[in-house]
Amino acid sequence: MFRSLHMKLTLILLLLITSLMAVVGAFLTTSVTSFYIDTFYQEMDSVFGSDQREFITSLRNEAAQAEDPVAGLQNILEGRAGSLGIDYRTRNYFILDGVSGAYLSGSADETALPREQSVNLLTARNAIIQKDETTVGDSSDITAEYMDVAVPIMGGDNAFIIYILDNKDTVSGLNSQLFLIIMQSLIIGLLISVLLSFLLSKTMVGPIEKLTAGAESVAAGNFDNELPVESTDEIGILTGTFNEMAGVLQATLAAVENERNKLDTLFLHMTDGVVAFDHDGALIHCNPAANTMLQRTVPADCTYGELFGSVYPFEQMLELQRPNYAEGEMLVGDRTLELYLAPFSDQASGGVLIVLHDVTEQHRNEERRKEFVANVSHELRTPLTNVRSYAETLRDANGDIPQDTANGFLDIIITEADRMTHIVQDLLTLSRLDSGKAELVLSRFPFGDAIESVTRANALNAKQRGHELVYAPPESLPLIVGDRSRLEQVMMNILGNAIKYTPDGGHIRITAGSTEDTVWMEVCDDGIGIPEKDRERIFDRFYRVDKARSRESGGTGLGLSIAREIVQRHHGAIELAPHEGPGTTVRLTLPIAQERVELSKSN
Ligand code: ADP
Repeated sequence: MFRSLHMKLTLILLLLITSLMAVVGAFLTTSVTSFYIDTFYQEMDSVFGSDQREFITSLRNEAAQAEDPVAGLQNILEGRAGSLGIDYRTRNYFILDGVSGAYLSGSADETALPREQSVNLLTARNAIIQKDETTVGDSSDITAEYMDVAVPIMGGDNAFIIYILDNKDTVSGLNSQLFLIIMQSLIIGLLISVLLSFLLSKTMVGPIEKLTAGAESVAAGNFDNELPVESTDEIGILTGTFNEMAGVLQATLAAVENERNKLDTLFLHMTDGVVAFDHDGALIHCNPAANTMLQRTVPADCTYGELFGSVYPFEQMLELQRPNYAEGEMLVGDRTLELYLAPFSDQASGGVLIVLHDVTEQHRNEERRKEFVANVSHELRTPLTNVRSYAETLRDANGDIPQDTANGFLDIIITEADRMTHIVQDLLTLSRLDSGKAELVLSRFPFGDAIESVTRANALNAKQRGHELVYAPPESLPLIVGDRSRLEQVMMNILGNAIKYTPDGGHIRITAGSTEDTVWMEVCDDGIGIPEKDRERIFDRFYRVDKARSRESGGTGLGLSIAREIVQRHHGAIELAPHEGPGTTVRLTLPIAQERVELSKSN
């Protein structure tokens, strides 16, 4: 209750008024009392003071000469009652015996005298005993119950003390009145302060309460309610500033939200995996790519240690200072993942960010490249060795060799040279296809014509091997768009392989057909066939099921890889079709139309 600003304000005002009244009251009563005391002694001084010697002398003479000195003294004092402020009620004069201090006469009876001997009275009696004529009591004490002055009067053998006593009833009464007034003022002041506090709370606390409500609403994320600025004072300025602050906060929050959305989208769609852990190694984030790469859905309670502890210890990760980072590699199933591990803040609120990169293909490509280079060297080394050994033999024989044998050697050298030329040509074709330099020369041509032309070209070869080569064309085959000479090269390779890898007297059947937007051709033989384990790889460069047989028949192991490159450039497919019984079926599928851009290039 006392925490509210309103209550505090009321309490402060009440305390203020009370303390103010207390100070004013104390000051007033002290001032009034002091003034009264001062006035008393001034009055006494004006009658008995050192510059009133005549009056004192007249008193002494009266005390010395008169028959009844007490009555004489009383007469004189009665005459100066006005100057002495004698009112017979609160202030009286007394004539006392100078030695015993006994009451002789006065404006009031003996009972009005104070029971104890006042300091001034004692001083006066001492003055009389010591014959010191000058002393007049004038001590005053603000807290004393009364004020008095004792004047020693020595006349001849008589000694009296004129004793003026004021019992302070007047000032006490005045002070009581003052106290009453102050108490009344205090009550009125308190009432006013309560009213004032209400008024102040309305003008000050009201807007502050509105501001508080606004701040609470902003804290709850509601930025829509702009607070009305109702005044130009500090609270008005504060309200305006608060509105501005809320606006800036809203814009900043929107920017942060936008950035977060961007990051979320980035993490969601990026191909690299991203996993983040906090300072304690607990999972914060794991994007879908990371789940795919790790081949599991990483659970929310997964820790760094479980996933990457074996790659790089977490404690060492935390010791890394940005921008340093660690690298590692891990195997997940048959995939190889490359990891980049980096701390994302040096603070305790930071953690570790891991970027996962699937390098399986990269590694495989590297392997393939190495294998390819090794294959090329090997393929070229064999004919080169043959050429060299036969040439050396011819040179060493120095003409001492039958002509037939020499011719045979030279034939071998020529064949090996042809083989090398073949390999180099094939490699060149592959390299052009790989680098995209071998542009397709597109044209529209009848698919059936191309098959017939290739069949005709191989007819003699097939006949020499005693094969039965059958082409059963369908009723109609559509025109297709493609590079005719390259596609015929593909068909030649497929058909050539069928002839090559079918023992003499085999059967080779060519079929073709079309769908709405594709054409296909199948070459089916009953030759040696391709074992199951090799079916996957026969399109790889230099891959041959039976190397010796392939070499014998002049094969380089590059024909089908070139064929696949050409077909893929046409957005088609070349594959081994399911085949029953001995032999092989190779199927070529091509789209009827090619992309407009490529067609326009050729035209
Ligand atoms: P090559 O020049 O050796 O014929 P290819 O790339 O044309 O090279 O063929 C790759 C390998 O695929 C061949 O070496 C052969 O072992 C196998 N092959 C291709 N076609 C057939 C087929 N019709 N029957 C059996 N094996 C085949």
